[in-house]
Amino acid sequence: MTSNERVVVIGTGLAGVRLARRLGELGTPALLIGEEEHRPYNRVLLAEVLAGRYSPEVIALPAPARIVRGRVVGVDRAQRTVACADGSVIAYDRLVLATGSNPVLPPLRGLFTENHELPEGVHAFRTMDDCLGLSKAVRPGARAVVVGGGLLGVSAARALALRGAQVVLAQQSERLMERQLDPAASKLVKRHLTDLGVEVHTECRVRDVRCVGGAVRSVEMADGYALDADLVVVACGVRPRVGLALTAGLDVRKGVVVDDELRTSDPYIHAIGDCAQHADVLYGLATPALEQADALAELLAGDASARYTGTRSLTRLTLTGHDSPFDLAAFGETEALPGDDVVQLADATRGTYRKVVVRDDRLVGGVLVGELGTVGALARAWEGAEPLPSDGGPLLHLLTNDGGS
Ligand SMILES: Cc1cc2nc3c(=O)[nH]c(=O)nc-3n(C[C@H](O)[C@H](O)[C@H](O)COP(=O)(O)OP(=O)(O)OC[C@H]3O[C@@H](n4cnc5c(N)ncnc54)[C@H](O)[C@@H]3O)c2cc1C
Repeated sequence: MTSNERVVVIGTGLAGVRLARRLGELGTPALLIGEEEHRPYNRVLLAEVLAGRYSPEVIALPAPARIVRGRVVGVDRAQRTVACADGSVIAYDRLVLATGSNPVLPPLRGLFTENHELPEGVHAFRTMDDCLGLSKAVRPGARAVVVGGGLLGVSAARALALRGAQVVLAQQSERLMERQLDPAASKLVKRHLTDLGVEVHTECRVRDVRCVGGAVRSVEMADGYALDADLVVVACGVRPRVGLALTAGLDVRKGVVVDDELRTSDPYIHAIGDCAQHADVLYGLATPALEQADALAELLAGDASARYTGTRSLTRLTLTGHDSPFDLAAFGETEALPGDDVVQLADATRGTYRKVVVRDDRLVGGVLVGELGTVGALARAWEGAEPLPSDGGPLLHLLTNDGGS
């Protein structure tokens, strides 16, 4: 690519902004197009805004200079232009899709009004607008139901509880954050939420959202039990936002399919972040989005050898309570298979838990709750995928940092 080619990036989330900033540093300025009316911000920290710990300005990202507000509604691959909702047309030499994800809205009866909108009091939790809407609606004593007990639902429940709401969290499966955590760690997360006053119901399926005059009044469970609700947060996961790529005729499976050069089935169009599917993997996490942006910046700025080969990403979550923070980190496989070695340390009084799983002398996963001092060393051992010394001593040391206390 030559340095005077026009790079256009759709999406001003973590991936798009990082790419534009890196390209600017490398002397290849890009044009960013984003539909959200707010200054670009760090989505990972939205729960902190909802909890009242940070103002929206604190989580703003350093925005690149060339940024246009608008929604792209079409891509003309033959002409190499994009069309915006306001009728404007922008030409590109290289186009980057960084369109992120949409929240999954499950097929609950009553979840949509006749105009296909969420009823008053029902919120998704994905954007700054969702967060500000929820923040405006929540007040001490408000009855809030959070549907979904993954990372998003847990973050939302804890933030609403800190704002004084009476929160019920309904999780369909048998435990919280099951994608990231093993059963013992899930139990500690549940205990943390319960200590904050959140009522956690697992194996509990919400069936119905009941409204009066367009506003939510209650939520009904599959067993017929009804919960009064002033607020409902739908936190049932996300789905890559691929509408533009599909109508442009690009190869899309669950996400937009990309190769190691983050290139889609059209060599002039790339995709990064939550919307991209690389080596069959959809990440939906911040670190891979940033690593993809960095690799693509190198490529577009002229380093033909740059590649993205995947991310071994650690999930971290800090849940700040009234007096004590509750940190957790998880990586790789947190549940052992037959034949794996497991080292586990638990302290019920302090609410800490540490576990690593080793297979064929390699660290394959781990989970740390409440005690994250060793997370850096463990992450390095996991990322490096080097064989561990066979006597087990160093492994225990990795877990304790202090020789086994
Ligand atoms: C509340 C919350 C907490 C999270 N916590 C964590 C966490 O602890 N750890 C972690 O790793 N990840 C977390 N995530 C996930 C993380 O935020 C995402 O993985 C990351 O934001 C992906 O970045 P992205 O740039 O690909 O997409 P996004 O940040 O979603 O940005 C995409 C942008 O593109 C815009 N856009 C889409 N289509 C168009 C169009 N046609 N025209 C113009 N603009 C368009 C969207 O409006 C959006 O602004 C969390 C997410 C949420 C919502």
